[in-house]
Amino acid sequence: MTLGTRAQISETGAGLPIDHLGIAVVHLESAVPLWERSLGTLASPAEEVPSQKVRVRFLTVGESHLELLEPTSPEATIAKFLEKRGEGLHHIAFQVSDLRAKLSELSKAGVRLIDEAPRQGARGRWVAFAHPSSFGGVLTEFVSDRPGGGA
Ligand code: ZN
Repeated sequence: MTLGTRAQISETGAGLPIDHLGIAVVHLESAVPLWERSLGTLASPAEEVPSQKVRVRFLTVGESHLELLEPTSPEATIAKFLEKRGEGLHHIAFQVSDLRAKLSELSKAGVRLIDEAPRQGARGRWVAFAHPSSFGGVLTEFVSDRPGGGA
């Protein structure tokens, strides 16, 4: 399987839905209240994601979410991001149905992947990141309920 050719891509297709936007914060619990009050919604309880060395809380925004991320270790990539760039937008996550198949498609199309295989993310879901150099400087995550079968 390869990425859709121009002819295969529907002009009216909605594309992949944005699952969430990831925002790096220094202190999760100090960041959350302003977001909650501003958006009129409560954040999910904090969840630790050991594979990424972060603690996260999600806020529902329409059909998507914000993911606030706080590092749990100085070695976390989020900690390095905060050190270099400060708080701010960290990544965009798209929802896919078959994560392994998507990674295989992207890899064949020459996309530089950070994760060659799905790994366990927050909310019991499977995630994989692609390198910002392949997506205009934006760290891009793909998320699925299942790891998927792949191609
Ligand atoms: Zn994320």
